[in-house]
Amino acid sequence: MDDIKVCKRCRKLFQAYRNENCPNCEEDLDRIFERARDYLYDHRHENMISLAKALEEKEADILYLVRAGRLSFDSAEGSGLLCEQCGRPIASGRVCDDCKNSVYKSLGEMAARDSAKNAPPVRSDDKFRQKSSSYIDEIARRDR
Ligand SMILES: [Zn+2]
Ligand SMILES: [Zn+2]
Repeated sequence: MDDIKVCKRCRKLFQAYRNENCPNCEEDLDRIFERARDYLYDHRHENMISLAKALEEKEADILYLVRAGRLSFDSAEGSGLLCEQCGRPIASGRVCDDCKNSVYKSLGEMAARDSAKNAPPVRSDDKFRQKSSSYIDEIARRDR
């Protein structure tokens, strides 16, 4: 069964398969993508805004293609993308490399902390406790 969705780009209803845009918009975006890719091939140092201006396309469409990972820029500043964690400009994706690394680092630290918590504490009175428990065992045995 096909879902009826509202196209995110033109707000028209359409039968959705797996796209979030209607077929018309997907065609538009494909066309924009091809032009943008060709343009960027010759103009590596463009940014999102100047590219949109050069192609006479909407910045939102360029941004959509960048977010979808179809277009990328040489410079992080040019992409118009910001890290979702720290707000720094990034060239592609959702978070900057630093934030990506710190997520992995904090996950690793958390795992290390957990395993330290679960490890039995080494205590000097362990021997004493062993002795005393065997003593109690002895009394228990004697009372039987
Ligand atoms: Zn549409
Ligand atoms: Zn960041």
